[in-house]
Amino acid sequence: MYDHLNNFAADINKCMRCGNCQAVCPVYRVTRAEADVARGKLQLGRALLEGRLAPTPRLSALSQRCLLCQACLDACPSGVSTCNDIMALRAQAVKGGGLTLAKRMLLAGLARKPLLDHGLPVARKAQQVAFRPSGPGYRPRFPLGLDLRRIYPPLPARSFLATVRERVPRPRAELRVAFFVGCMANYVYPGTGEAVVKLLGSRRADVVIPGEQHCCGYPVLALGDPVTARAMAASHVRLFGSLGVDYLVTACGTCGESWRDHYPELLRDDPELQARALALAGKVRDISSLLGELPSPGEMLPLSRRVTYHQACHLGRGMRVGGAPVDLVKAVPGIDFVPLADPGRCCGGAGSFQLFYPELSREIAAPKLADIRNSGAEVLVTGCGACRNQLEGLLAAEDWPGRVMHTAELLALATP
Ligand code: SF4
Ligand code: SF4
Repeated sequence: MYDHLNNFAADINKCMRCGNCQAVCPVYRVTRAEADVARGKLQLGRALLEGRLAPTPRLSALSQRCLLCQACLDACPSGVSTCNDIMALRAQAVKGGGLTLAKRMLLAGLARKPLLDHGLPVARKAQQVAFRPSGPGYRPRFPLGLDLRRIYPPLPARSFLATVRERVPRPRAELRVAFFVGCMANYVYPGTGEAVVKLLGSRRADVVIPGEQHCCGYPVLALGDPVTARAMAASHVRLFGSLGVDYLVTACGTCGESWRDHYPELLRDDPELQARALALAGKVRDISSLLGELPSPGEMLPLSRRVTYHQACHLGRGMRVGGAPVDLVKAVPGIDFVPLADPGRCCGGAGSFQLFYPELSREIAAPKLADIRNSGAEVLVTGCGACRNQLEGLLAAEDWPGRVMHTAELLALATP
């Protein structure tokens, strides 16, 4: 589907060039470049389809300058599927124009689980040599192609999947839940995975965590490689399709969207596999949604903290998970919840976007950082590991005294 821009021609042609997307686009707000907003990208797609443009490296680079934050999707009066069109444009542009070496390396790593598994201890050692401790993490000693001003989280000695059992049973279980962990919880923030397992256990759920799972494939799709993303979708649907679970839980809106929306599309050419993907899609829940649906486990431990919440784009706009995380946080005794002025404003992280466009990403993040500082919160929670990474790294570099954590981790602290 995504590997042929022609499939998106009708949708691209729905754009009436009204410019509403300009008003909401975080990239355009900073750059004021038409090629950086949905309208401009759709025009590039149209020109490519009509043969007025060739898929050059320049076009490939332009197609990558988008957060896929979905703000334009919500603002578009014509109902253009902007993000899907932009991903298809990328795939077409990458075919002729290629990707930078750094992006090709990232893509290769994300697509091969053993590379990340074996690379984690090496990366951890390298972090201890090439970075210096700074605040809650590490700051690069040398440029290394990274942003020298931000702070990076300490990498764990082992991935979450290397430490957890494939089945975590619960006496008198009433539910059977599969947990799709995602890259950030697996390789960067294993505490998120531990929190999810604890919370599901507190709701009388048997938790199944297949050890062979890997990246959901969305970053690969977003980099312009739908063929590899399709292979990743197929392997996950085969792995999870036979588990016989009531729910499939994610702790990241992007993973959830992959399962719910992209896997059935990517597997369109195989009706049997697509049917299995659709069956699983109906069981997908973000951890906060599922906790909101299930009966409360009883009394919670008090946490005396002033807390605010950042709504990740793919969780809020993508999965339409809005109030559940906030309601859960507010239900913890002792918590003083202070809302952000604009909780759904994109943080500018967008997975690997912050790695490849650090200056632009920082400028996009600036209003979000100010909003967090002005809230007076001591703790910022969010339901996305990539947003956490972005906000934690930038706030720590500004000596913000608070703490950033996944919503599930805060809730687990309050769960006996
Ligand atoms: S808001 Fe929609 S119709 Fe208007 S320019 Fe943007 S993509 Fe086109
Ligand atoms: S997805 Fe976000 S960054 Fe990309 S064009 Fe739309 S509003 Fe701009």
